[in-house]
Amino acid sequence: MPLYDYQCQQCSNGFTELRRMCEMDAPIECPECGSRETLRSVSSFAVGVATSSMPSVSAPSRSPFS
Ligand SMILES: [Zn+2]
Repeated sequence: MPLYDYQCQQCSNGFTELRRMCEMDAPIECPECGSRETLRSVSSFAVGVATSSMPSVSAPSRSPFS
């Protein structure tokens, strides 16, 4: 899973989260103030990495409710 950098719009706190690519634009709470007013900034991981060469990692999804 790639790392994504976020910045809080409320307290200007910058933080990094390890997230699935499909979740990278989903709202995320600031760990400092709990605000969801966060913006994703360009991750250093993503720069220079060809996304087309990303291996398709399909982890076995087990439902927590089963
Ligand atoms: Zn914040």
